[in-house]
Amino acid sequence: MRPALVAGNWKMNGDLASAQALAETVREGVADLRVQVLLCPPYVHLDRVAGALAHSGVGLAAQDLNEHSAGAHTGEICAEMLADLGCSHVIVGHSERRHVYGEANARVATKFARAREAGLVPLLCVGERQDEREQGRTQAVIAEQLQVVLEQSGPGAFDGAVIAYEPVWAIGTGLSASPEQAQEVHAFIRGWLHEQGAQGVDALPILYGGSVKADNAAGLFAQPDVDGGLIGGAALQAESFIAICKAAEASSPARES
Ligand code: PEP
Repeated sequence: MRPALVAGNWKMNGDLASAQALAETVREGVADLRVQVLLCPPYVHLDRVAGALAHSGVGLAAQDLNEHSAGAHTGEICAEMLADLGCSHVIVGHSERRHVYGEANARVATKFARAREAGLVPLLCVGERQDEREQGRTQAVIAEQLQVVLEQSGPGAFDGAVIAYEPVWAIGTGLSASPEQAQEVHAFIRGWLHEQGAQGVDALPILYGGSVKADNAAGLFAQPDVDGGLIGGAALQAESFIAICKAAEASSPARES
C-alpha cells in the first residue's frame, strides 16, 4: 500500500501575505485527511510558509536546488539551505527547468544526488514532449531520464524518493493525460525500474502532473500506479487544491496490493 501524496507547486506566484494565507487555509483544509501533502512555494516564501505549516502534517518542499553545496554561485540556493529552512523534499528536473532553462539529464541527476546527500527527498520530474510522444518515443525518453539518475546514484537512487510523471504537453495547457495514458506510463516506469534492479520500487510513489484539476483528479488517482499528483495551477487556489487532496484520499483502495 502506497500512501497518497499530493504536492502543490506554486511556481513563481504570490507574495508573502498571500503565500502565508494559502498555506494556512490548506493546512486547515487537509488536517483530517490521510494524505501526505507538500507545498512548494518560491524560495523567498519558504520561511514564511514553514511558519504557517509548523506542527501540522503538511510538508515543505522547494522547487529546485543548485547542484553544488556552497561557494561562488551567485543567485543560487543549495540543498543544505533548503534543509535548514525546514524543507523535507525538493522538486528536481521540473519540465520548466529542463526545457525553459536548459537543464540536461546529467545536471538533473547531479541535483538529485545532491538532494539525497543533504537528506532531502528528491521529487524527480520526468516526461516527454508532444513531438516525442507523436514519434512513439515516450518510453525511451523517460527511460533515459531515469537511467542517468540510476547511473549516478546507484540502485538505491529511488528508495525513499518520489517520481512525478509530467508529460510536457500537459503542463499548464489544460490538456491532461487521460487516466489510461497516465497509468500506462506509470506502470512502465515501475516495471522499467524493476528490470534495472532498482531498490524500493514497489513503495515508490509515482505522481501524475499536468493540468490536474478538481474535476479530473479522481479518475487519474483511481489508477493503480498513480499515487497522487504534482499540481501547478490548481494549487494556487485553496479550494481546488483541497478538493484534489480529498480525491487522492478517496483513491486509497486503488493502491492496495
Ligand atoms: C506543474 O507545473 O508541475 C504542473 C503540473 O502544472 P499544471 O498543474 O498547471 O499543469
